[in-house]
Amino acid sequence: MKIYLDNAATTQLDTEVFKAMTPYLLEHYGNPSSHHAHGREAKLAIENARATIARLINASPEEIVFTSGGTEADNTAILSTIRVQQIKNVITTPLEHHAVLHLLENLEKQGEIKLNYLTINKQGEIDLDELEQMLQNNERSLVSVMHANNEIGNLNDIDAIGEICERYNAVFHTDTVQTIGNYRHDLQKLKAHFIASSAHKFHGPKGVGFLYCRKGTGLTKLLHGGSQERQLRAGTENIHGIIGLAKALEIAYQEIDEHQTYIQGLKDRLIAKLTEQIPGVSFNGNSAIADKSLYTVLSVNLPFTSVNLLSYLDQHGVSVSGGSACSTGFASHVLQAINADASGYTIRFSFSKFNTAEEIDFTVAALAAVYRSVAA
Ligand code: PLP
Repeated sequence: MKIYLDNAATTQLDTEVFKAMTPYLLEHYGNPSSHHAHGREAKLAIENARATIARLINASPEEIVFTSGGTEADNTAILSTIRVQQIKNVITTPLEHHAVLHLLENLEKQGEIKLNYLTINKQGEIDLDELEQMLQNNERSLVSVMHANNEIGNLNDIDAIGEICERYNAVFHTDTVQTIGNYRHDLQKLKAHFIASSAHKFHGPKGVGFLYCRKGTGLTKLLHGGSQERQLRAGTENIHGIIGLAKALEIAYQEIDEHQTYIQGLKDRLIAKLTEQIPGVSFNGNSAIADKSLYTVLSVNLPFTSVNLLSYLDQHGVSVSGGSACSTGFASHVLQAINADASGYTIRFSFSKFNTAEEIDFTVAALAAVYRSVAA
């Protein structure tokens, strides 16, 4: 049995997405910048994909820029704000993905920005009053706060953060890489200037994503060259990837409520069975609280360190991710920031529509066997 419970890292490509992509590899292979029929066909397909994505997130097609994924979308949003709007004060959290944190740390080191971190409590929550105070006491700022954390699944209230940012005329970037395709985003309501997405997190292909940039916000390019993407992103477009991205998002939106219920059911089952069969198990951050965490992620702290659980599960055919605040060599900045219990072994389980209850039961049985052998 091979079980994949690492869907926050990447997801299985949906067969329907693959089917939508293949004609753009085999038949419609024109370069969208070419003016002949092959090129026009490719260009039209890209613009249709852009319109589809814009419709789904309630934005305008001009507000969507295709990128190579989440990292490029995050980097473009942040660098654009700093370089085009000349904003030098940045407010973020210690729990952001490295696509955000490493860039910001680097910019701080170069003296380009002043970086301020919001305080995180033991649960990994931020305090919106503190955000408001920071905005009050500083010059115009960029606020970069992720929607859902990829390790512990904590959800931030991006609607409320957007409202606060609007009140203080701050630019708001939110890394929505883990939530696009899992929740509906309505950019007429959400007061964000930038959101980032990556297709492989919702059953699309790897190496493609998009940046939403609110009209009038101002973008700068990272790549110089051709005039693709309205001069914002040079390089021949990843056309089959873009087609796959739009198709994957379309499928995700069609099935969103049904999948949320189904996947939350799998997560609840895992929480209940682990709690029942492994005394001392705990859950990091807000991971186990349904309305405060991403339903596709569960970060579990297992009360034994004598076994390398990642390898053990791997040998039993179960693929998961680790992460530990202790000394296993994989020190996670997220677990360290929330001061996670370092006496246990942390495993991140992350689910998709393709997982089953049987897979959850098999995984718990494997872990319970370790518990019994350690306890014996
Ligand atoms: N942001 C978050 C929250 C992520 O989980 C990831 C990927 O793991 C990224 C950004 C980077 O996305 P990509 O791998 O598409 O560049």
